[in-house]
Amino acid sequence: MPDWVDIFRLLKRYIKDNVLPSVSQIAEDNAEPYRVLFSTIISLRTRDEVTLAASRRLFKAAPDLNTLITIDETRIAELIYPAAFYHNKSTSIKKCAAILLNDYEGRIPSDRDELLKLPGVGRKTANLTLNLGFGINAICVDTHVHRISNRAGWITTRNPDETELALEQILPPKYWIPLNEVLVSYGQSVCTPQSPWCSKCVITEHCIRAGVGRKR
Ligand code: SF4
Repeated sequence: MPDWVDIFRLLKRYIKDNVLPSVSQIAEDNAEPYRVLFSTIISLRTRDEVTLAASRRLFKAAPDLNTLITIDETRIAELIYPAAFYHNKSTSIKKCAAILLNDYEGRIPSDRDELLKLPGVGRKTANLTLNLGFGINAICVDTHVHRISNRAGWITTRNPDETELALEQILPPKYWIPLNEVLVSYGQSVCTPQSPWCSKCVITEHCIRAGVGRKR
């Protein structure tokens, strides 16, 4: 079993001066579930700095659902450009707004199964909304969490859904919410997708480097 106390101690100390992931920054400004949900949709396959600017433009124009529903899809696309798939995301955002107002009395549901019914919302978005918007325990697995957990040898899985289930078996619940922020930050700066910086890694003794080829 991984030594989670030591792993989190080392990772938190290393990343304490790093810039937070974009959705965490949005949540630091204001952690309303509305903002966490839509900034996470914008963040999919999009660089952090683009997500941050796009989300702030959207929330300045539409600080709540009632305003968002009055903005047409073309304008939403303009506001979130150049986020990846901004046309598709603007369609999802507009549809989500209508469903939330019509079926949920304008509230973001705090239940994963309900969140997963919304257009453009997968497990990553649902779990991050639960984490940052509601403080509800769930493991949000993105590409960094999936990659680092497997490289380290904590788990052996083929996709993020399997990773979520595997981590639920071995990770104490008190680490479920912080896991995403810690590993996203570490994955952007040290355990990068290509050529990870193993030479300056602080958790080498907790990592078997599974599948790691070229490294620095
Ligand atoms: S030792 Fe290398 S592969 Fe393992 S966590 Fe550190 S940077 Fe990633």
